[in-house]
This record gives sequence, structure tokens and C-alpha cells, in this order.
Amino acid sequence: MAIIIYARKSVEKENSISCETQLMYCRSMIRPDEKDEKVIEIVDNGFSGGNTDRDGFQKLMHLIRRGRVSKVIVYRVDRLSRSLIDFVNCLNEFKEHNVKFVSSQETFDTSTPYGEMVVKLLMVFAEFERTSIIERVTQAYEHRSEMGFYMGGRRPYGFELVPAMINNIKSKKLSPVVGEAEQIQYIYEVYAQENVTLRRLQSILIAEGRQTLDGSEWTTSKLSALLKNPIYVRADSNVYDYFDAHGVNIISDVSAFTGEYGAQLYGRSKHSQTIADWSDMKLVVMSHSGIVGSELWLRCQRKLEQNKQIGNSCSNSTSWLAGKLICAKCGHKMTTVKSVINKSNEIRRYFSCTGKQHKKNCKGPKVTIYAEDIENMVYECIAAKFSELKSEIRTSKNHSDEINGLKLRIKAVEKSEAGLLDNILSGGFNADLVALANQKATALKRERLELYEKIEELKNDAPDIKYVTDLSRSWQNADFKRRKQVASIMIDRIIIGEDGSAKIIWNI
Ligand SMILES: [Zn+2]
Repeated sequence: MAIIIYARKSVEKENSISCETQLMYCRSMIRPDEKDEKVIEIVDNGFSGGNTDRDGFQKLMHLIRRGRVSKVIVYRVDRLSRSLIDFVNCLNEFKEHNVKFVSSQETFDTSTPYGEMVVKLLMVFAEFERTSIIERVTQAYEHRSEMGFYMGGRRPYGFELVPAMINNIKSKKLSPVVGEAEQIQYIYEVYAQENVTLRRLQSILIAEGRQTLDGSEWTTSKLSALLKNPIYVRADSNVYDYFDAHGVNIISDVSAFTGEYGAQLYGRSKHSQTIADWSDMKLVVMSHSGIVGSELWLRCQRKLEQNKQIGNSCSNSTSWLAGKLICAKCGHKMTTVKSVINKSNEIRRYFSCTGKQHKKNCKGPKVTIYAEDIENMVYECIAAKFSELKSEIRTSKNHSDEINGLKLRIKAVEKSEAGLLDNILSGGFNADLVALANQKATALKRERLELYEKIEELKNDAPDIKYVTDLSRSWQNADFKRRKQVASIMIDRIIIGEDGSAKIIWNI
């Protein structure tokens, strides 16, 4: 078994700390009881940490996989990798082979609860990067869509599929169906009117005897899906802006948004209604003419968003805080329930006490605990935790106090130097004293230069907050699934008082 010291000097930064200095720091991390162990030093000089395509790194992983390694020491975690996913993969492999991991500059101790929590969070968010890998795999699929092939299964209402040549490839494209296309236009127009809710729209269509594609009844979720579908819009730059603002990955160039053609939204979580999930979606301009003008289409989108309608088709009654809420009164869990607010036909989720199921006579809090409200509150609290985490690491790695102390010492040395010079110039010294003073002056000068060097060293040793910064940013973009995972890692429970107050009990 061996201890491996791994050093890497980046290509990007010329003034970054040298491999020799890194090795020196790492050697000092070897504990007295490890002095007899074999130490292997591996250096990647002039390699970027952006990927794992480094000779030294590959050698390191090879040794680990062969079970030859007990511990890996690095100067800083970013020496190992600058990519979160590579870093997390590394940690996984280390763990698999019982390899301890130590960073000389960070307290990266995966054996403490705190370190363990940070690693767990990193794992959750590493999936963000994993997504981009999946994207590469599905590039072929994407390529088809870039050329405007229709990728849905059944034909969408209002269109039929007609044979067409797209980029010299025999294919099918959408073409408006007379009658159905007018129906689509009519649905958008009615919904855009004031005071027309989805439910009202539904009853209007049913009363008028208008049929769906398969002859079944109109439902609000069918209508909502139809109204949201950009396949009907004549996509222009405003439509581009709309999807761009929602974080949708727009495949087509903005120049393709000419105001003539429909667009297709695809990707994961197609049916999800939460805006956070839109980051997984892609939009491509198709080769068929749209039916509805962009102004009307966008007006309907704004209305749909305002209503925050939670579609019937979507099992979105759960919360990413499910299982975490505890009723303070009876101590039982609170679960989410969907309810229709009669006035506006709006569906909202709220938390309700399960005490009754346990034969407790508990009505829960006196106020309604809307899932959305408590989610927003907890979301902010976690965001604050992450920014706290960020600043904590920043200050703990900040050498400003040390640098300031060194600067003061330089000032003192300079003062001594000046005093010495004054004495020599004033002729108050004899020859012997001048010789002594010269010696002293040389020593002071050396001390001063050493202090300057030390300051430079500390300045170059910039704090590494990359991973933690990533946590904060990743949290902002986290979808339902990741929010749930983060909540389960960080939060033990949330106690809901009778007055509706919430108290978060953190895991750490
Ligand atoms: Zn209760």
C-alpha cells in the first residue's frame, strides 16, 4: 500500500503555485505514523484540470483500481479536477477502494458529518453535469430535430403529417388541416379574453359541440397542454425571448424565428408544469407554418402562468418537502392535499395533518399551510445556507489577516532601516559601528524582501471556492427532484406550529 501525492500545475495560469511547492505542502501532511509507508509522487505539469486526460492522473487511478493505494494527498481539491463530475467520480472510486483523501489547503475530511454532507450535495448536483453527457449521447436525435422533423408520436390537433423532403432526406412535415386549424385559432382567441378561465373555456367548447381530435371531451388539462404548445405559434423574436427567459435551451438560431414557422418543445419532463424543469427542455423551429400569431400566443402563456394552473394530468400534488413537515400539535406528519379554490377554479396544494389517521383529534394548524408558501420559504433558507457556506470557506481561506501582519512587519523593518541610515548619515557612528550598521542594514533588507515574497505567496494561494460556488448556483437551477434530494440531505424536519409558524431543524 502506498500514499500518493498528486500535484498538477495548470496550463491556464502562469503564476499558479509550482508542482514542487505543492509536493512540499503535501509531504507535510504525512502523519508521523505513516512515515514508513511508501510514498509515490505523481506530477502532471502543464495539464488542465478540465478533464481527466492527464498521464499522471490516469496512473493515479490505475494504481487505485489495483488496490495499491491507501491515501491520496493533494495541495488543493482543484488539483485533482476542476470538473465537479470528475471530482465526484474520483471520490466515489476512492471510497470504493478504501482510499482516504486529504487536501492540504482545505478541510476536506470526508469522515466528518459536515464533509459528508458537502459531498452528498456535490453528488446531487453532479447530475447537472451528467445531463450534458447524456445530451452528447442523444445528439443524433437532436440532429433530427434541428432539421425540423416532427418527433411527437401522434399528429397534434390542427395538423396532419405530409411527406416532405427536409435537407434532402425523405421525411414528413406538419401541415395545417382546414377546419382544425381554425378551431385552434378559435381556442386561443377565446382563452385570451378577459375572465375566461380554462374551466370556462372548457364549458364554452363543450356547449358549442366542438370536438377534440379523438372525439373525447375537452378537459382543462388537454386545453392547457394545447395552449402551451409552441407548435401552433408563428414563432418570432418575442417567442424566442419568452423561452429564453424561461431557461429553455433554444437549438435554432434566433434568425430562424421569422414569425412564420411553428416550434417544437422537447426533452425531459415534457409534461412537468414547474418552471424550474424548463431548463431540461429544448426548442427548435420547425418547417411548418404556425397557426396562431405570436402576440395572441404569448398573451395566452401569460394568462396560463398567472393562473398557475396545476394540470389534472400532472401528479403534482406532492411537494419536494414531502415527509419533512411535522404538526407541532400532535407530532404527526403533514401530507400534501390538492384543493380547488372555488372562486377562481384554481388548484392549490396545501399541507394537512395526518393525526386523524392515527386516531388523534387534531385539526392541525389554524391557518392553511400552502405548499407553495412553505416551499418558497425553505428554498430561501437553503439558499442562505449555501451562501453562508460560501462565505465561510472564503473567510477561512482568506489570508488577509496574515498579509496585513506581514505588511506591518515590513513597515517596522523599513523604519529600522531608515533609522540606521539616519544615524550613519549624521556621522554619529565610528568605522566599527558603520560596519555593524551595514551588516544590520543587509539583514533588514533581506528580511524585508522575504516578507514581500511571503505576501506574494499568500496572494497566489487564492481561496478555492469553486465547488461551493457551484452549490449555490446549482441550487438556483435545481428542479423538483434535486430540491427534494437536497432537502432530504439538509433538513431533518420542519415543525409547523398551530399558528402556522415553521421551524426548520437542520441536519447539520
Ligand atoms: Zn396534528
